[in-house]
Amino acid sequence: MPDTAMIDADRLNHSLDELAAFGRSEGGGVRRLCAGPEDGKARDWLRARLAAEGLAVKVDPVGNMFAVAELAGPDAPVVLTGSHLDSQPSGGRYDGAYGVAAGLEALLALRKRVKAGGLAAKRNLGLVNWTNEEGARFSPSTLGSAVFAGLVATDFALSRTDGDGVTLGEALSAIGYHGADRGPPKVSSYVELHIEQGPELERTGHRIGVVEGNWGTAKFVADIRGRAAHTGPTPMAERRDALLPAAELVLFVRALSDATGGALLSSVGRLDVIPNSTNVVPAQARLFAEFRAVDPAMLAEACAKLVAKAASLSTPGVTVALEQTLDRPAGTFDPGLRDLIAQAASACGYPPLRVHTVAGHDAIPMKTVCPSAMIFVPSAGGVSHHESEFTAPEDLAAGAIVLAETLARLVSA
Ligand SMILES: [Zn+2]
Repeated sequence: MPDTAMIDADRLNHSLDELAAFGRSEGGGVRRLCAGPEDGKARDWLRARLAAEGLAVKVDPVGNMFAVAELAGPDAPVVLTGSHLDSQPSGGRYDGAYGVAAGLEALLALRKRVKAGGLAAKRNLGLVNWTNEEGARFSPSTLGSAVFAGLVATDFALSRTDGDGVTLGEALSAIGYHGADRGPPKVSSYVELHIEQGPELERTGHRIGVVEGNWGTAKFVADIRGRAAHTGPTPMAERRDALLPAAELVLFVRALSDATGGALLSSVGRLDVIPNSTNVVPAQARLFAEFRAVDPAMLAEACAKLVAKAASLSTPGVTVALEQTLDRPAGTFDPGLRDLIAQAASACGYPPLRVHTVAGHDAIPMKTVCPSAMIFVPSAGGVSHHESEFTAPEDLAAGAIVLAETLARLVSA
């Protein structure tokens, strides 16, 4: 029988309150960019909480933080849970932080249960805080977990730069999290608890979602080069305006989605204009575009059309170079682990809904390493990456209970 009383829901809420103070924004959200001072404080908080419980933290070269409760001896494989403490520039207080804080509660609860003789552990239990999940300050996203999974080289990750030219390596050093440790060598499974960031659970009245798989995502950067000139005396025929192709691309990306009736999701979320002065014809524009789709053929077609469109926009004096920065195919999480989560949720009194994730998560790189899966709890109004992000305390507690029950089954298996 699951022990649904083992999670300290009040302490979980308190942890989320404390974490939300690091980078708190006026609207009640957070601005906690990867490896910035606020992220450093949130990491220090986690390290202190773990130290108070007698758990040492290991920090790897890209700043991923690991703590392992040795429930079954030093050489036993590790069941890993966690998420990320970084946020979007105007993010909410639950995205990522919830998975870390609830993972900590689940780990402490299970350790207590093992010590009391209520659970025979054959595996150890680990908690992780992944670096740069959001991809807001450094691109690409899910960078720390991708390095851990061996999909991205450490040097490549550390050399990523933010908008000011600061590398991830420099930023991690500045906050004291450019480590030299290694993560757990034997991870037998990874379970990530996260807010849904979509409306399905709330709409259907479910507290728990079992994530079946992820949509495909493709991201691009268009680097458009023209020539700076005075916006007054320069004749129109001599202007080499880098912003014009960018404007066409913004509308083209949207039109591709409209042509699918909205099945293809798309956005241009960022546009850098250089020098961005009212009196200068733009010399350079950098445009960040993305597509997401559950259908691989639809995604591939959109990518091909964007590549062709970008190529057609270069003119004498204005060049358009398009680079694909992310190609994350649609995929599924481990079927056995998904079923185990569903059974755990039902046993705890929360019959689950099977859902998909449109957003990227660290569980996606991790599924190339070991059986991985995700548990979702509702997001009010489906809102995320916004200050008003909200999940009710009862839902937060339910997710932590189901996570703990899932981990209990995994460590004792
Ligand atoms: Zn997240």
